[in-house]
Amino acid sequence: MHTPTTSSIQQVPLENKGNIQLYIKREDLIHPFISGNKFRKLKYNILEAKRLKKQTLLTFGGAYSNHIAATAYACKENGLSSIGVIRGEELTEKINDNPTLRFAQSCGMKLVFITRDDYRKKSETEFIIKLEYKFGDFYLLPEGGTNELAVKGCKEIINSEDEKFDYICTCVGTGGTISGIINASKLKQKVIGFPALKGDFLNQDIRKFAVQNNWELITDYHFGGYGKIKPELITFMNMFKATYNISLDPIYTGKMMFGLFDLIEHGFFPNDSKVLAIHTGGLQGVSGMNLKLKRKNLPLIKE
Ligand SMILES: *Cc1c(COP(=O)(O)O)cnc(C)c1O
Repeated sequence: MHTPTTSSIQQVPLENKGNIQLYIKREDLIHPFISGNKFRKLKYNILEAKRLKKQTLLTFGGAYSNHIAATAYACKENGLSSIGVIRGEELTEKINDNPTLRFAQSCGMKLVFITRDDYRKKSETEFIIKLEYKFGDFYLLPEGGTNELAVKGCKEIINSEDEKFDYICTCVGTGGTISGIINASKLKQKVIGFPALKGDFLNQDIRKFAVQNNWELITDYHFGGYGKIKPELITFMNMFKATYNISLDPIYTGKMMFGLFDLIEHGFFPNDSKVLAIHTGGLQGVSGMNLKLKRKNLPLIKE
């Protein structure tokens, strides 16, 4: 994880009245398993864990978490043991039905399932001490992997060649990624975040890390909340894939791109704007989502 990585930019040709030019930065292609922003968020954390001579890294996530999958692989690649504390005790018996958990386990991650009630305590000191008592010393990475070092890593998503864009758009979960992008952006640029979940705590969370105010969250495209999807989102993602040959994920990048197309159509951006969207990855989650969609007899995402 030491080599500096830059990802390619592609135009997304799109006819529209205002001559808005849309580009996509393929962070999803920077690593076969540690995709997109999770690579950026882990980079300095893994280095720090090694510097502190930790042998184990412990983190938290849901059953389909990109962060869990990425952390499991990154730890394996860097010779660290990993523990994933997973929300939902009922999943203990279901590891083999879940592609994300199966992958994490195949990388050597020890999976520990806890109740949703316990999961809510995951940032309380008392709860962490209990985990230390149980598993010994570890490097602690919060849910979603967001901390100062993650934000530092996410600054590297943006480089000097991106100065030509008027807008930089990204998906938002915990806000770590957008914070890094904000901190790397020029003040004349505007950073736009598309939260994948409901809730107004995000503005505050981003303010903790962001050093500039040239950003805004567009909260209209979460499709009902985290992990929630609707058939029109799937239809859009499949159209996008068929037209541009770029896969999107249903939790984050699909929602952002849906929102961007909608905003462009409704004249949100001034004429002739150059808009860069960050493809933050997340494609490992598609097969798990498709298993869920199949059970519900809903249309599937083309992989
Ligand atoms: C985790 C994730 C995000 C959210 O990143 P935050 O730093 O938590 O805001 C966005 N996109 C993808 C694909 C992710 O996996």
